[in-house]
Amino acid sequence: MLVPVALNQAYSYRVPRGMELKPGDVVCVPLGPREVVAVVWAENANPDPRLHNRLKDVGEKLDVPPLKEELRTLVDWVANYTLSARGMVLRMCLRMGDNLGPERMRVGVRLVGEPPRRMTPARRRLIDGLSDGLLHAKSEAAREAGVSTGVIDGLVDEGTLAVEVMPPPLPPPAPDPSFAQPDFSRQQRTAVDAMRALAANGSFHVALLDGVTGSGKTEVYFEAIAEIIRRGKQSLILMPEIALTGQFLDRFANRFGVKPLEWHSELTPRTRARNWAAIAAGQAPVVIGARSALFLPYANLGLIVVDEEHDQAYKQDDGAHYHARDMAVVRAHIAKIPIVLASATPSVETEVNARKGRYQRVALPSRFGGQHMPHIEAIDLRREAPPRGRFISPRLAEQIGHAIERREQALLFLNRRGYAPLTLCRACGHRFACTICDAWLVDHRFRQRLVCHHCGFSMPRPPTCPHCAAEESLVAVGPGVERLQEEAASLFPQARTMVLSSDLITSIETMRSELNEIAEGRVDIIIGTQLVAKGHHFPRLNLVGVVDADLGLSNGDPRAAERTFQLLNQVIGRAGRDQGLGIGYLQTHQPEHPVMKALVACDREAFYASEIEGREKSGYPPFGRLASLIISAGDRPTAEGFARKLAAIAPIDERIQVLGPAEAPLAVIKGRYRFRLLVKSLRNVDLSEYLREWLAAGPKTKGNLKLEIDVDPQSF
Ligand code: ADP
Ligand code: ZN
Repeated sequence: MLVPVALNQAYSYRVPRGMELKPGDVVCVPLGPREVVAVVWAENANPDPRLHNRLKDVGEKLDVPPLKEELRTLVDWVANYTLSARGMVLRMCLRMGDNLGPERMRVGVRLVGEPPRRMTPARRRLIDGLSDGLLHAKSEAAREAGVSTGVIDGLVDEGTLAVEVMPPPLPPPAPDPSFAQPDFSRQQRTAVDAMRALAANGSFHVALLDGVTGSGKTEVYFEAIAEIIRRGKQSLILMPEIALTGQFLDRFANRFGVKPLEWHSELTPRTRARNWAAIAAGQAPVVIGARSALFLPYANLGLIVVDEEHDQAYKQDDGAHYHARDMAVVRAHIAKIPIVLASATPSVETEVNARKGRYQRVALPSRFGGQHMPHIEAIDLRREAPPRGRFISPRLAEQIGHAIERREQALLFLNRRGYAPLTLCRACGHRFACTICDAWLVDHRFRQRLVCHHCGFSMPRPPTCPHCAAEESLVAVGPGVERLQEEAASLFPQARTMVLSSDLITSIETMRSELNEIAEGRVDIIIGTQLVAKGHHFPRLNLVGVVDADLGLSNGDPRAAERTFQLLNQVIGRAGRDQGLGIGYLQTHQPEHPVMKALVACDREAFYASEIEGREKSGYPPFGRLASLIISAGDRPTAEGFARKLAAIAPIDERIQVLGPAEAPLAVIKGRYRFRLLVKSLRNVDLSEYLREWLAAGPKTKGNLKLEIDVDPQSF
């Protein structure tokens, strides 16, 4: 039995007489003082017979479909590759809501008799909630009335309530593959044919749907999905950020008549349980979800689509470190099904695979409906600087003015939350830093606090300098989106402005309604972080101003150029999608940088060519492999000492280099000192195996020492 906790090995349990179990069956087992859900991993593990008497019994067998071999293989594969505990990976497959699974939800209660003789406020609330006489799920009824299920049991004993079996929930409405097929352009038709062929073929195959922003990639991959629905199989669409998919859901409904099933962290336990059950029963033909949806137990998965495949959000960095796009390809391979990776700016890894012919490139080189790609210009901040203390250059400001006169929208993009990234004292030079992280505190004016973006620590902005006690000496240095809004409002007092930033969004619902307001034209100037870059279609937006185009380039990360190129291309791709000509301005101090030059010249080819050449020369992915080991501890010498010991015993292999230890890019987070070892190897090396052997022989982490292993790190 594999248990969904941080353990790698499977455990043996005794199967009670009369219970038949086969691999994949989902059961309850005792684990220490708890009962947990577990999955039968191997047939007849045949433990040592002397142990037999000490084995605990399997509890009950749950009434859910067994985990298919395909998914069990994926769990083993991912755990092995990422060096995570298998139980942790399994846990992602079993996120079936609180309680132990769908069948626990099926106990229902109904009001059937007279009120009890002894009435309490708790009983009153419960009875009021059930006054419609309908059957309610027991746990829901208790939760809604704010009482324990014991209160229900009492009323059942007295005959006021009756317990009944809940009927299984109705399957979600099925998408209709022929609901409304759009007219495709000639260019789209070729791509649609490729999508249908791939879906019809039904075997493992990777297609890169490589289409410029606004080319209609979504409409095109919908046809692969339509084909899969016709064949009675399930499709999974992975999205980087599920909160940003409101428009997508509408488009899906326009095409297929109903919305797809969603999977994300904000589902209520009840919806989660219901969706999980529908997915496992094969009743959810199309599922859209964030990366965790990859590990669900689909009954008959036929296709995976990874939208915006280059997006960083696919990398999961807590718990198991995995890249959902890569693991999606692995799942498709194991399940022998096709997979579509869609992007306007593929990751270098994917681009190389397409160039080498390992992935089929399906291209959409121009926008749908004859719209032009946005025109892009650089604004050289060395020559066209904004006034002191301001961040919008005169030329950009002028263009925003014109846009507003034309009743169009303008988008100001700055990938920085808050008001200002740094606060300092003019009198003594004191800078506000986090006490437990190696980071400045960011001024957040909406929240009226100085906040650490790494640990969440926050404090009010003091009236005087805590260091020299000078009054009114504190100044904000640099811009964040909140400060830009202030500037935009002072430049254009009549304009309606809106800030979109993840810290200001309280739920998926508010996010979706704010995006709606923009799409409906109720905002003139949108100021946003990377949230505004992703996938939106704002019909009245033609002008995008990138306030600090250099921001992502300076952090020394070898992927910085790729990321910046992707992000800027994507955000400027919001412009001119519907009518009129889109235009993007890049405010930069280095217009000669290859990223800026490629963007201005609309020369994607040149960018990839130079980026790929650089990676090949230096042996970085995908031409070599990397893993990073982060060693952290509450004090510096412990962390550093451990890292040195580990480095010293690294097995010698001429194909592998161990670099470091050096201070990790963020040297202190939450009071933990962090050191990093970077392991770099040739492409054909099994790096996971190397790491496993090395770490097995190495010193063990104890006390507050922590070792985090990241195979294929995204920043290094
Ligand atoms: P991308 O994802 O490639 O940026 P989208 O899929 O968002 O592009 O498409 C851009 C816009 O064009 C969307 O509003 C979409 O509904 C519309 N569109 C694309 N193809 C068609 C089509 N064949 N018929 C009608 N509208 C289309
Ligand atoms: Zn901090």
